[in-house]
Amino acid sequence: MVQHIKLARERRKRKSRIKAVIFFFALFCLIVGGILTLKNTAENKPLATTVDISVDNQYKALAPTEAEKITSKDGQTLSTANHDTNSNLDATSYDDDLLAVDDEVDEVDLSDKLPEDAQSALDDLLDAMDQAKRITDQFSYTVVRGDKLKDVLEMSGLEDETSKKLIASYPELKNLKAGQQFYWILNNENELEYLNWLVSEKEERIYELKDAGKFARQIIEKKSIWKKDVLKGKIESSLRASLRNLGLNNRQINQLSTALQWQVNIAKLSKGDNFAVLVTREYLDNKLTGQGNVDAIHITHSGASYYAIQADNGRYYNRQGETIGKGFARTPLQRQARISSPFNPARRHPVTGRVRPHKGVDFAVPVGTPVILPADGIVEKVAYQAGGAGRYIVVRHSREYQTIYMHLSKPLVKAGQSLKRGERIALTGNTGISTGAHLHYEFHINGRAVNPMTIKLPGTNSGMADRERKNFLVKAKSAERFLKF
Ligand SMILES: [Zn+2]
Repeated sequence: MVQHIKLARERRKRKSRIKAVIFFFALFCLIVGGILTLKNTAENKPLATTVDISVDNQYKALAPTEAEKITSKDGQTLSTANHDTNSNLDATSYDDDLLAVDDEVDEVDLSDKLPEDAQSALDDLLDAMDQAKRITDQFSYTVVRGDKLKDVLEMSGLEDETSKKLIASYPELKNLKAGQQFYWILNNENELEYLNWLVSEKEERIYELKDAGKFARQIIEKKSIWKKDVLKGKIESSLRASLRNLGLNNRQINQLSTALQWQVNIAKLSKGDNFAVLVTREYLDNKLTGQGNVDAIHITHSGASYYAIQADNGRYYNRQGETIGKGFARTPLQRQARISSPFNPARRHPVTGRVRPHKGVDFAVPVGTPVILPADGIVEKVAYQAGGAGRYIVVRHSREYQTIYMHLSKPLVKAGQSLKRGERIALTGNTGISTGAHLHYEFHINGRAVNPMTIKLPGTNSGMADRERKNFLVKAKSAERFLKF
């Protein structure tokens, strides 16, 4: 059974890997396509003109003259709109697209861990391709009364010959019982390569094709046990690499990184920092099955200890049972401000009538209002787009979360700076294409804009009830003992 489940899991994994292959291939095509187009544009004058025109038009629709027109239509001047944020013309912008070209940019690459991630993704891809090449078909079947092995294998188009050969070597296959399950794989030559027979809950038998067309048998008595193990080490190149060397899989490593990211900048952990991980792993015949759970981790960095310990609810907390992460403030402002334009993926431009998704929330605030960082983070980008977002800042808070601030008058931070929640990062303004002084605020999860006003903010609301918390504290104490250096 265990083997069977493992196989099923692997099959699922393989499927998603194949999806990944397709995705990366598509991405590759896009990039190559993009490069070729650019090349064409450079070589081909008429095409270049076309591109220029379309860019021109795009800018025209949003050029200041147009914005002025909008204002005059409403019987107001642009300067009124600038100062009177309560006017019926709401301060907003119809072009906050970050994909537009920056006129100035100060940017850091925060993906220091990417090369490794990319490497592992590549490994996974190669693995998947290898698997996809090797395994053409997989089948499963549940025996009904009266079935013979040949009836089972017939489901995959195998001739009687195969079952005869198998039964000749392993007569037990003559007697099948209703309810038993089979799981099998054919190779590229459409030969039976692997047959898994779930004889009972306690036993499974595996028949594998070896050289000379013979089948080898393996009998598995399922007595898997789960053991707690403590894995200790010192960080070499990165925490990620070190955990990988200890045999943790990507999912587990990501879980831990997420759990720790609020306490310590994982990218800053350095060579020689100690770490200890408490895992519960499944063993079958003293061999790891690959199934396991990470219960806790302890890291020391610059003399301080950091813990992430899993509670029964599956989430990770620090030793005190406090939510890891200090959470996000709802808005990046000191005081409440009127929303002049809400988050709205289906918003239309009032003049062109075209859908211009509003990927953020606009706060009507006078020029010079301080922007307050809603959560700890690192400044990823400080840039300027005259034809759109104006002066804007991108802050990364974690692997998943980013916040973006547009139409600023003055940035107070530089790319690469590490900041705490509550710090001033900029003064609001009316730069770029904007119909009045406002702050355009975006909240991204995994690169996708979500409504900052309604999203369930990370790090909040994940507290434990009293009883749950008590259980957790007991668990935490024991984890701590395991994880001592
Ligand atoms: Zn906006």
